[in-house]
Amino acid sequence: MTITCPHCHAENEYKTLDHINIDRNPELRAKVQDLSCFRVTCPNCGETMLAVYPCLYHDISNQFMVWLWPEEEQPPRAQFDPLAGYTLRIVDSLNSFREKINILERGLDDRTVEIMKLLLFAQLNRDLDVVELLFHELDEQTMDFRFVAVLSDGAEQYAAMPGAVYQRLQEDVKNYLYTPGGDFTRIDMAWAKDALELLHELG
Ligand SMILES: [Zn+2]
Repeated sequence: MTITCPHCHAENEYKTLDHINIDRNPELRAKVQDLSCFRVTCPNCGETMLAVYPCLYHDISNQFMVWLWPEEEQPPRAQFDPLAGYTLRIVDSLNSFREKINILERGLDDRTVEIMKLLLFAQLNRDLDVVELLFHELDEQTMDFRFVAVLSDGAEQYAAMPGAVYQRLQEDVKNYLYTPGGDFTRIDMAWAKDALELLHELG
């Protein structure tokens, strides 16, 4: 892959990881979470930068695949056996890529987490100008869900939601929302907005 350095404008070829099998290469897990496996160094000026390119993350043990697809054009259609029980997700940014993996490898339902984010986003935006909200971690002690909000001035703020909110929403998601398997699905806050409207109509 050819990348032009934003600092010195030199064009260089870099080797990229277009497929990560985390069961085969577990050492890559941390490198995805800190994004270091997407960091390249320009041999001309020595500056480092993040390279964003299509990358398929495959976790066999936890039965999911997340496809980072930052391209304008539609990705090729995938056809998997929907009965195989795999969760297939597509995302378009590095932040949502690592976030989605972080959610799915805990066995959480990302649809429910996206609805929680939408509710929290509305709450936080009364006082703050939130540009991005991401799932951060699940506190094993309190079962609180912790999120990180990126504000318009670049500052980050942590916010939590009790696990009871997840449990309550998860019931509705399980009972009323059906997400077909077999192809990669985009589950984000835009999806959550539609889903919440649907739940309100039903409710
Ligand atoms: Zn350079």
